[in-house]
Amino acid sequence: MSRLDAPLALVPDSDVIAELRALLPDRPITWAEAHSVAERQAARLLKLLHVGEPAVPQFVISSLPGIVVDRRRDWPTSGMSVRAASHWRIVLKSNESRQRQRFSLAHEFTHVLDDPAIERLHANVAPARRHDRAERICNYFAACLLMPRAWVKHDWGTGIQSTRALAWRYYVSEQAMTTRLSELGLSGSRTPILMPSRGRGDRS
Ligand SMILES: [Zn+2]
Repeated sequence: MSRLDAPLALVPDSDVIAELRALLPDRPITWAEAHSVAERQAARLLKLLHVGEPAVPQFVISSLPGIVVDRRRDWPTSGMSVRAASHWRIVLKSNESRQRQRFSLAHEFTHVLDDPAIERLHANVAPARRHDRAERICNYFAACLLMPRAWVKHDWGTGIQSTRALAWRYYVSEQAMTTRLSELGLSGSRTPILMPSRGRGDRS
């Protein structure tokens, strides 16, 4: 079956967010499961928007009904998502690098996806740790969306193993690509990637 014949092509844009939210379990989520769901959501979004190669365009998020992207110079944080009456407004700090803004957009979009379920999803975690856990999952979704596992592993296998070259190809920061390569076990590190004690400290 060709890509144009794929059934997923029939899903209208207006249902994309609902379809991604439907992948969230109807109960508290474990740490490993949260990563698995984030990766599935990212892959589903790319498939629904017919994106099959890097660099992932920002329209996979910015074009969705109900999402408004607003760039503000000197905004106090890299990104922020605010719910309005009829839409979500994602504010990005416009004087940060475009690569970082792309990551922040994907990070904030995860907050939008998780919002209706956020208390349920993290009910199994001590309240003091919930914010940090949610932030890490947002970073993981962003990494999965902008640097899909299969694409990066394929590129690595074809010999593109320079962090700088890969960061340019995926249009992300070198820091973000370095973290992703480590997660995927492609940087010489054999450390498991899903240990909750090893946080993703970076946002870009
Ligand atoms: Zn966040």
